[in-house]
Amino acid sequence: MNEKWDVVILGGGPGGYVAAIRAAQLKKRVVLVEKHKIGGTCSNYGCIPAKYLLHQTKIYKEMKENKNIEGPLEKIKCNWKKVQEEKGKIVERLVKGIEFLLSKNGVEIVRGEGSVKSEKQMVVNTEGGEKILESDKIILATGSRPGALPFLEPNGREVVTSREALEFDDIPKSMLVVGAGPVGLEIGTIYQRLGSEVIVLEIMPTILPGSDEEMANRLERILKQQGLKIYAQMRIETCSIKEGRVSLKGSSLETQSPFEFEAEKVLLATGRRPNTEGLAGKDMELHLDEQGFVKVNSMMETSIPGVYAIGDMIGGYLLAHKASHEGIVASENASGLKAEMSYKALPMAVYTEPEFSSVGLTEEESKKRGIKIQAGLFSLQASGRALTLGRQEGMVKIIADAKDEVIGAHILAPNASEFISEIILAMNKGLKIQDVSSSIHIHPTLSEAVMEAAMKSKNQAIHVLNL
Ligand SMILES: Cc1cc2nc3c(=O)[nH]c(=O)nc-3n(C[C@H](O)[C@H](O)[C@H](O)COP(=O)(O)OP(=O)(O)OC[C@H]3O[C@@H](n4cnc5c(N)ncnc54)[C@H](O)[C@@H]3O)c2cc1C
Repeated sequence: MNEKWDVVILGGGPGGYVAAIRAAQLKKRVVLVEKHKIGGTCSNYGCIPAKYLLHQTKIYKEMKENKNIEGPLEKIKCNWKKVQEEKGKIVERLVKGIEFLLSKNGVEIVRGEGSVKSEKQMVVNTEGGEKILESDKIILATGSRPGALPFLEPNGREVVTSREALEFDDIPKSMLVVGAGPVGLEIGTIYQRLGSEVIVLEIMPTILPGSDEEMANRLERILKQQGLKIYAQMRIETCSIKEGRVSLKGSSLETQSPFEFEAEKVLLATGRRPNTEGLAGKDMELHLDEQGFVKVNSMMETSIPGVYAIGDMIGGYLLAHKASHEGIVASENASGLKAEMSYKALPMAVYTEPEFSSVGLTEEESKKRGIKIQAGLFSLQASGRALTLGRQEGMVKIIADAKDEVIGAHILAPNASEFISEIILAMNKGLKIQDVSSSIHIHPTLSEAVMEAAMKSKNQAIHVLNL
């Protein structure tokens, strides 16, 4: 006999497992189908391993560059094997923790590859054979995988994706990073800190395309000072591999002149593709967009009633916290509540040093939409806390509309991803820029720069001149 459930969820990444816990909280009988590892890309091959390697290499670099430490600094080495082992342990611990939470919430896990058979049926190929799960509602959360270019396919050796790049046994002497998005910049930074010669090639005019231009340009300058070589407007046309070395050839979109770069490894960081192939039976009308992402409405429901989709597989910003929030919305709707997803205050972060974190509209986007803005800028050169950290190269920008409502913030600072949260809350609750500037911030903190930027938008900043 087929097993019956209230909600079946396909995919145990940050979208799927959060959806499972939320549906279980709402007293639903929930089963989560996962073909590989609970925690998905984020916990196993993305956010968490990348941030561990970034943190370890940051300590290593800071130690080597700290002028106040005496002794034979050249003797300090990064024990890469140990770092990789520790990274594995952290990932394992995290995944076990998620499995524990799922189990304690009463979520059943079925291991195997699933697909939607009908509106109320999921078929799963398990080790023990085919299993049919009958369910009132279905939530799809199958995520995404690295994309490739027609002439640049990853082979797992010389041409790799982020997954292999985070697991190298040896530190490559040289690396070409194709794509200056968050993944390319973070992994490029890790290996540059370890001594690799890293060259980043981007086809667009700036790094982090679509971000606040002033901030992206500033971050590019900082990363170049740190030793990362970054070239924009570079169109790669061919790739060849000879004796373990990769060569990329192409031409500059700016000057039309040809280029050729060679390295031990090429990291493809040019975006991701949705895992949507073969997901639904032939006679099922699961609508996809031109790139293969599943189309959903604001309640996360697909073109098939009662079937929801969340996370990377529906496109937009491919971020773990986006996937998780969509998971909560989908589960609430699947459980009979009414919830809608809002992307008004969806933040993002790049974990370089300094970090870059952003939420809401940029100056460029506001202008394009015809919104009259007031922007408050505050340089970290005037921040006491930044001075104590030796990191004054950053900046905070807050944008408000003509009615003083906060509509965006862009922060280049150590730990920017942590202290942008007050702006996320402000935007979520429709607060005004004066609400930020009139809140007392602890001294000395980097978050004071947020308050000062808000003050500056009204020419009331204290620690810079209001010219
Ligand atoms: C290097 C890197 C760094 C990143 N850093 C960050 C970061 O710092 N912050 C951030 O917010 N985001 C980050 N991301 C993005 C983040 O990892 C994704 O946005 C997030 O994992 C998406 O969650 P998801 O649940 O939609 O999909 P996934 O995490 O991809 O999970 C999907 C799950 O579904 C399973 N699955 C797929 N098909 C089937 C099937 N047919 N049957 C059964 N199971 C199936 C997969 O095995 C997988 O476990 C990073 C990504 C990468 C690659």
